[in-house]
Amino acid sequence: MTGTARCWFNMALFAAGIALAQRSTFAASDWEIIKVSGHDYLSVDNISRFYGFPAGVAAAGEKSQLDAVKNPLEFVSGSREAMINGARSWLCFPLIEQDGKYLVSRTDVAKTIEPLVRPHRVPNVGKVDTVVLDPGHGGHDKGQVSRYGAEKEFALDVARKLRPLLQAKGLRVIMTREGDYFVPLEVRAKIANAARNSIFVSIHFNATNDNPNATGFEIFSFTPRGAPSTSDSAVALSSFNMQPGSEVDAQSMALSACIYHSLLGHITEYDRGIKRARFAVLRLTKVPAVLIEGGFLTERGESRLISNKDWRGKLAAAIGVGIESYRSLEVKKQPPMLVADYRRQTKSSPPEPAIQEGQLKEADTSLMDLVGKSVFLAPQQTSTPSQRISLESDVIVP
Ligand SMILES: [Zn+2]
Repeated sequence: MTGTARCWFNMALFAAGIALAQRSTFAASDWEIIKVSGHDYLSVDNISRFYGFPAGVAAAGEKSQLDAVKNPLEFVSGSREAMINGARSWLCFPLIEQDGKYLVSRTDVAKTIEPLVRPHRVPNVGKVDTVVLDPGHGGHDKGQVSRYGAEKEFALDVARKLRPLLQAKGLRVIMTREGDYFVPLEVRAKIANAARNSIFVSIHFNATNDNPNATGFEIFSFTPRGAPSTSDSAVALSSFNMQPGSEVDAQSMALSACIYHSLLGHITEYDRGIKRARFAVLRLTKVPAVLIEGGFLTERGESRLISNKDWRGKLAAAIGVGIESYRSLEVKKQPPMLVADYRRQTKSSPPEPAIQEGQLKEADTSLMDLVGKSVFLAPQQTSTPSQRISLESDVIVP
């Protein structure tokens, strides 16, 4: 990390109604695509004009100013890490700097930023009659095993707790497995694909060999075509192939956002972020699909939490609220509740757990960069009725 290479941006986006004031003046030809090594990029200025912010970037200075901004959008130059609406979100490609401009890949504007900032505007979003719950692993495949038990048991228990909550909201629920047996991954995807207006929610717990202190939640949806997954640094040739999951990657991202904001908003856990992967269950499902990692079985404190049935009940409830939030996008056509909204609502939230050393280091990296080196775009204060302009391919490709 160098001082010149890292620079946070902060674009403020207000909740429904206030934001996106200038969109009526934004035309498809206003997108200025900048080619860098053959790839398409858009400048932060251009993006801010699209979302209705004043053109230009102003220095912010103090962190307190950033705190005062509601629902900020923050990027860090040279990195794929971003904060969008108060949750860590991973871009497909790093933010780059060229000729004094900060540039975001076109893929990320269309496939990451837009479905996270305006999930309610993603086409066909929120259509859910059936929720396919997929408890990870099973049978001979135990998943990760902690001193308290196996991932396959904990995942099944969360799904069993979640099922009646969803049924109570009038949703049909199908489980890819009801007991302790293995179901091949392609069969799990087939089950989801066979159900009308379904979504697929896979439940797992995390593990790592590298860092015994690693903790926190993360969620995955299918990586867009031609982009690397969050854990990959290079684009593989195979990533250009169309997959069943490619058709619905924007809806899947919206589902990811809805569930993740509820998880973080209801349960105090480290925010590892909204990520992308090409896991078989995400690749083969042609309905919106996510994979939740509900904490680490390789970390002492978190593995104990996961073994607690009340905590698993809380996890199931938070996932349920997130699914309901996703479903409401279709009806309300408004942005979903965000992590800060849930936290305000949850008056009786438990005290913060003691911060572990490894955790502090990870979280600090971002905070330190945020202070002092920030760049800040002030939000528009006026509001006009919005016109239908979307980031669909016909608009974004002039
Ligand atoms: Zn797993």
